[in-house]
Amino acid sequence: KQLLNVKDLYVDVEDKEILHGVDLSIGEGETHVLMGPNGTGKSTFGYALMGNPRYTVKSGEIWFKGKNITAEPVNERAKDGIFLSFQNPLEIPGVTLSSFIRNALEQKTGKRIKLWDFKKDLEKTMAILQMDPSYAERDLNVGFSGGEKKKAEILQLLMLKPSLAILDETDSGLDVDAVRTVSAGIEEYQKTCKGSLIVITHSTKILEALNVDYTHVMVEGRIIKTGDASLVEEINENGFGSYETQEQ
Ligand code: ADP
Ligand code: MG
Ligand code: MG
Repeated sequence: KQLLNVKDLYVDVEDKEILHGVDLSIGEGETHVLMGPNGTGKSTFGYALMGNPRYTVKSGEIWFKGKNITAEPVNERAKDGIFLSFQNPLEIPGVTLSSFIRNALEQKTGKRIKLWDFKKDLEKTMAILQMDPSYAERDLNVGFSGGEKKKAEILQLLMLKPSLAILDETDSGLDVDAVRTVSAGIEEYQKTCKGSLIVITHSTKILEALNVDYTHVMVEGRIIKTGDASLVEEINENGFGSYETQEQ
């Protein structure tokens, strides 16, 4: 069953056209990898799917769960079940990790969540990610290391259980152990939440434990090639050079 359908999407950032007609369909429970050189528009695509107002859709459509969401604001899309993990997670002084996630959950479900149940669930999920429980009461991302910030993003993913998660270079700058832990968290999301994924990455390490259905190569604001999981290996061996010349 189709979950996301992006049709001929053109996106401007600061009045400059960055995406020039992107098409992408994602089925329920599928994992898609998005690769491409730096500055090619991968993060722009993620922000546009999430509805960040700085990324203007000039034409094309985004359909999610059979609904045209192209004009929907961020909070509506979050309620619908779209989640974006940031390349550089924000620090939020005065808001603890625990209260941030609980609030996001209440926003999403429109229901109050009992503190006791929530804390138990949070602690169990933090254990999967090998996070010290004391982090729950620390201000969100304030003084967190790069690895801890990324784990906090995956913690949100596992607690919020979105239907579509876009992970933007969640593995960048992490040491081998942290990549393994983050990858285990994503695997847990695949298994228990049965959600769909768009994984934006430059490396294969994070993908080892994951079941990849499709790989897409984005060059200069267009998806120029789609393949299966083996395309990731091919790109790691040959780079993007051949695709850039193919384009002309
Ligand atoms: P990628 O994630 O593939 O590295 P990005 O989507 O971050 O690429 O960037 C694509 C292009 O859009 C780049 O030229 C970048 O400078 C520009 N861009 C992205 N976000 C902004 C922004 N907020 N303001 C100005 N330019 C931006
Ligand atoms: Mg980049
Ligand atoms: Mg990026």
